[in-house]
Amino acid sequence: MNNKKIKIRYHHLMCIPRYKGKGYSETFCRNLEKIKYSLKNNNYVLVDDCDDICICCPNNVDGKCTDESKVSRYDKLVKEKRIKGEKIEPKHICYDCCWFYICKNIDI
Ligand code: SF4
Ligand code: SF4
Repeated sequence: MNNKKIKIRYHHLMCIPRYKGKGYSETFCRNLEKIKYSLKNNNYVLVDDCDDICICCPNNVDGKCTDESKVSRYDKLVKEKRIKGEKIEPKHICYDCCWFYICKNIDI
């Protein structure tokens, strides 16, 4: 049995539950769906660099997101809000993401 933990970068905690089938490529979407439905309480670890979702993303170039400065900002804000116990909402964090037009309407 494979006990390796799934790597999830902080801001993907917002993206995963809001994922509605649109993504950067077919491979990306298939991988994200697989991860979304296999995540359980204790089978993942939070990271602040490329994770197991980024692995299949066309924007991942040599293990680095082409938009790293932007997504690192999202990671940092999500991390801070978790520590403070505050609600994590895209409108306060990732309003400049290309998928915000979808995610802004999804209240979790
Ligand atoms: S590589 Fe960048 S754009 Fe792609 S999933 Fe990772 S953080 Fe998002
Ligand atoms: S707007 Fe972008 S970063 Fe924010 S939750 Fe949606 S996909 Fe993730």
